[in-house]
Amino acid sequence: MKTKKALLIVDVQNDFCPGGALGVPEGDKIIPKINKYIKIFSKDKLPIFATRDWHPVRTRHFKDFGGSWPVHCIQNTRGAAFHPQLKLSPDIILVYKGIDPQKDGYSAFEAEDDRGIDLVRLLKKLGIKEIYIGGLATDYCVKFTALEALKQGFKVKILLDAIQGVNLKPKDSEEAIKLILKKGAKKITLKDLLKKKG
Ligand SMILES: [Zn+2]
Repeated sequence: MKTKKALLIVDVQNDFCPGGALGVPEGDKIIPKINKYIKIFSKDKLPIFATRDWHPVRTRHFKDFGGSWPVHCIQNTRGAAFHPQLKLSPDIILVYKGIDPQKDGYSAFEAEDDRGIDLVRLLKKLGIKEIYIGGLATDYCVKFTALEALKQGFKVKILLDAIQGVNLKPKDSEEAIKLILKKGAKKITLKDLLKKKG
């Protein structure tokens, strides 16, 4: 039996793109690639998940309340909206993370849908065994999502051409990818995926 796959798009939101409150340099450059992955998964009728960083106004995640980050992705604001170039298909499953004011909410595995069902349960209900992960940012939410996915027993493919990092230190992204691969994930690009499909 073929392993059932899902695509997981992490935080491709206005605030994480250039011009946003916490813009990842060139964060918007990956969007055309992500759109292509969406097309492929959509065509194959495989589930597609998209996370939204979705913070309350007061959270320990923000500098003002003891955290590391400037204010970003406040629930229901323009900054928290998906980037306008992202072409989400209508059947995409939305999950929200960072809602808990006590937590950073880096990992998509802390996310839940609008009924409060968490990502693991959603994935298991659909029989997903392998997750293809792309989005923002390589050295934070993508990294923590991939590591948690592996810990939870999922196979992970990291979309090398559809991730972008913050790089507070210049090598952060490189090291994040190294760690994810060391823990058992595989890397893939659009080219590989299209080749594999023949
Ligand atoms: Zn956040």
